[in-house]
Order: sequence, then C-alpha cells, then structure tokens
Amino acid sequence: MDLTQYVTTVENWPKEGISFKDITTIMDNGPAFKYAVDKIVEFAKEVGADIIVGPEARGFIIGCPVAYALEIGFAPVRKEGKLPREVVRVEYGLEYGQDVLTMHKDAMKPGQKVLIVDDLLATGGTVDATIQLIEKLGGVVAGCAFIIELKELNGRDKIGNYPVKTLIEY
Ligand code: IMP
Repeated sequence: MDLTQYVTTVENWPKEGISFKDITTIMDNGPAFKYAVDKIVEFAKEVGADIIVGPEARGFIIGCPVAYALEIGFAPVRKEGKLPREVVRVEYGLEYGQDVLTMHKDAMKPGQKVLIVDDLLATGGTVDATIQLIEKLGGVVAGCAFIIELKELNGRDKIGNYPVKTLIEY
C-alpha cells in the first residue's frame, strides 16, 4: 500500500513557513491505519521490543495499537505537569520551541527493551529527549519507529546507531 496518498500536507501551519504533515487522514482510513500499525508491529518483533514508549499526543495514537497487538505494555512520555506521580524529566528543543518531557519513574523495569513510536521524525529533538528519559530509567532502546520522516531536518543524526524504521520519507 502507498501510504503517502493518505497524508495531508497543510502549508503554513502552525506557523508561516511550516509545511505540516497531517496523519489524521491515515487514521480515519481503516485499512491505511491498520497497514501503518502492522508495519510498526513487524519492526517491533524484529527488534524484540518488550515495551512501547510514545510521546504525546500522536505517539499515543500509533504506539498504543502496536502495544495492544503484541500484548506488551505502553508507557507515555508527557509534557511537564501531566503525569500524576514521581517523574524523570529532560529539557529539549523541538521544531517550534523549547519544552520539557517527563516519564513516570516506575514506567519500566531496568533492562527492558524499548521501542519508541511516534508519528513523525523532524529535527529529532523529541526522540532524543525520549531516549534520554528511557536511559535514565535503565531501559534499553531497541529502536525507533515513525510513520513519517522529514529527511532534510536530519533527525536521524540525533538517534545515532539505534535501529530506525520510517514508512514515508519527504
Ligand atoms: P522533532 O522533535 O523536531 O523531531 O519533531 C517531532 C515531533 O513534533 C513529533 O512528536 C511530531 O508529532 C511533531 N511534529 C513536528 N512536525 C510535524 C508535522 O509536520 N506533522 C505532525 N507532527 C509534527
């Protein structure tokens, strides 16, 4: 299946000069959404993931069905102030500003193999912060999977040698 036809590009949103890739038009098409999730499930099996970690909010949408399909857990990465218990935190830069990401201190067991799942890889700031959070918790990053990669922003440089799977590249 060619997933590209289900992505909607929105010019100058959320700011002038940004070409936003909207994946809601993948999600609202049953076969396209299933195909995208299934591809990431295959990759999760390849890398032997035993937990999925996804950054808010679109990382939840893609990551949760992957975890469900594999009968493994899902741990959320959230902006500061959203998780109710003790957290680890990392400051990060993203395509449109600065922020803080957090995870619950007990989100995973040391040594667990983690697959990071998000909708899109842009500058890599979000995935870089997520890798740091996982490593603070003693998790082992098994790989990172995205539906879309914006290649010219060189996000892969932040991921280093961890295995990466992307379904669509621009
Ligand atoms: P990065 O941190 O620069 O790699 O940006 C990736 C994060 O920003 C992901 O969590 C995406 O959901 C979000 N993001 C950045 N650009 C876009 C876009 O064009 N479409 C959808 N999400 C985006």
